[in-house]
Amino acid sequence: MLALESATVRFGKRTALDAVDLEVADHEIVCVLGPSGSGKSTLLRAVAGLQPLDGGRVLLDGQDQGAVPVHRRGVGLMFQDHQLFPHRDVAANVAFGLRMRGVPRAERDDRAGELLDMVGLPGAGRRAVAALSGGEQQRVALARALAPRPKLLMLDEPLGQLDRSLRERLVVELRSLFGRLGTTVLAVTHDQGEAFALADRVVVMRDGRITQTGSPLEVWQRPASAFVARFLGFDN
Ligand code: ATP
Ligand code: MG
Repeated sequence: MLALESATVRFGKRTALDAVDLEVADHEIVCVLGPSGSGKSTLLRAVAGLQPLDGGRVLLDGQDQGAVPVHRRGVGLMFQDHQLFPHRDVAANVAFGLRMRGVPRAERDDRAGELLDMVGLPGAGRRAVAALSGGEQQRVALARALAPRPKLLMLDEPLGQLDRSLRERLVVELRSLFGRLGTTVLAVTHDQGEAFALADRVVVMRDGRITQTGSPLEVWQRPASAFVARFLGFDN
């Protein structure tokens, strides 16, 4: 599905992404962990086409994405500050990307309804976004990201603003939702518990590089370095 080959991004003298190689298989759920500033968001933005590369390549289904603009990459992206349109109702927010793609009104409404069912907000289409709780808004943002049926969904701290109990519940729901839809997912999180509950595989970043990758259990049981162990909260 996705391959990064030696992907490099520099900001002045700082190398935010340092020759990163990564492959994500169809239907795989990969969580990217790492300290603040390690390059997690830059990685997602580079895959989405929002951040040009200074070296290397991004391939989707074997196709070099170098010249492919953001809206043609078939990827969905959800940011932590999900930027819903507060003056539009829930359905309009969910259908936003469909409208941009010229999908007719009736189909947009149908699809928004289906997605709201999926994310656990049935019948919420006519509600005002401003009147929703933080967790409900996160679900709307997720439905919006899923609406164009992206082959690859990228989530940057999708549950960042929620309290722990809601996160734990949503993570389980999300994993099952992605399984049903067959969505390939690349998600950034600060929270190891979230990564371990959601991911088939975790990727740990440090200073723009991938320092370890493996199943959650492997990384948990056999951290590859003192850095990873410390990051996971072990003090050995
Ligand atoms: P966080 O967990 O805090 O979100 P992150 O792992 O997502 O961190 P990035 O946002 O990818 O980190 O940033 C990686 C490095 O690149 C950081 O040193 C950051 O300061 C730098 N950086 C990111 N975006 C820019 C930019 N637009 N201009 C200059 N430097 C940037
Ligand atoms: Mg970030």
